[in-house]
Amino acid sequence: MRAVVTGGAGFIGSHLCGRLLDEGYEEVVCLDNFLTGKPENIAHLMPRQGFSLLRCDVSEGIAVAGPVDAVLHFASPASPVDYLRHPLETLRVGSDGTRHALDLATAKGARFVLASTSESYGDPEVHPQPETYWGNVNPVGPRSCYDEAKRFAEATVMAYRTVHGTDAGIVRIFNTFGPRMRPGDGRVVPNLIRQALDGEPMTVSGDGTQTRSLCFVDDLVDGVLKMVRSGVSGPVNLGNPYELSMLELAKWIAELTDSVSGVTHIPLPVDDPRRRRPDITLARTALGWEPAVSVEEGLRRTIDWFATNRVPALVLGA
Ligand code: NAD
Ligand code: UDP
Repeated sequence: MRAVVTGGAGFIGSHLCGRLLDEGYEEVVCLDNFLTGKPENIAHLMPRQGFSLLRCDVSEGIAVAGPVDAVLHFASPASPVDYLRHPLETLRVGSDGTRHALDLATAKGARFVLASTSESYGDPEVHPQPETYWGNVNPVGPRSCYDEAKRFAEATVMAYRTVHGTDAGIVRIFNTFGPRMRPGDGRVVPNLIRQALDGEPMTVSGDGTQTRSLCFVDDLVDGVLKMVRSGVSGPVNLGNPYELSMLELAKWIAELTDSVSGVTHIPLPVDDPRRRRPDITLARTALGWEPAVSVEEGLRRTIDWFATNRVPALVLGA
């Protein structure tokens, strides 16, 4: 078995590459241009038999010789700070990058899985969000480069299924956290953990009552691998339905890190979704998947990792 993972040097992609090798894939080819990923994320995989890295921009094209059984398309900036910094690259990897990854899967007769997102629902008016909800996306707001790129990517997957019969599926991933998130990537979990560990006040945007539902990366990877092995087209929500406000999250991280530096409020980003929680009925029934790691346990493991992989704030530019 041979898998290709685009964005394999990113946070989720690096966990996926490792798990594919652990679960019997003889070869895993990681494609990445290091736009937001890091060589360190895959350094432990480089010596492993069957793992290879191809440094390339998948928006320009993908050339992988030989047979391929699965293509997992995870390349894309994912943190709002990253995609606001790279809006055109984000649109291109969602459009051209997705098309190139689908062409590869189609040519090789491989299973294809697209990493889509809960941002497809925008600022949702239906709560929790089932896959049947069409969403509430501002098509010209600052987040649109990401939301619309992923929605276009989903439409491309559906068209390839219809036109070429590609064995392609879509997972809509809700906020996922864990080891190997970039401490400076701007997302709430790495930001608050780094700040708490460095004795800085934790930045909570707005009044902190907005909610998210956080899934530990090992659980998410389980769900993605179940999707790869299935013939399900989806879209299928993958996330942990445990919902909490950002103020509750900050208090939790303060307790787990013994931080006393408190909270400071920063402006709420434009179009920041008010609340978000996945309805995972479909993942339970179609994939037999649900999260197994509690948010508290996931936070403990993530804090441990950040504590042993400290990067000075100066280096982060934070
Ligand atoms: P990440 O930024 O850590 O990883 C993305 C990877 O894609 C990076 O290694 C980056 O260098 C690579 N990449 C970007 N553009 C590329 C290009 N044109 N060619 C080759 N490589 C490219 O982000 P992540 O959190 O690991 O997210 C991975 C995927 O999962 C993304 O597609 C994201 O949209 C999706 N997702 C993530 C979350 C989450 O909470 N982490 C939620 C929803 C969806
Ligand atoms: N957020 C925050 N403090 C930060 C970074 C983010 O309070 O330092 C908020 C952000 O405004 C949003 C939530 O935390 O309401 C989740 O943000 P993140 O960027 O992690 O992901 P999103 O779900 O918005 O893509």
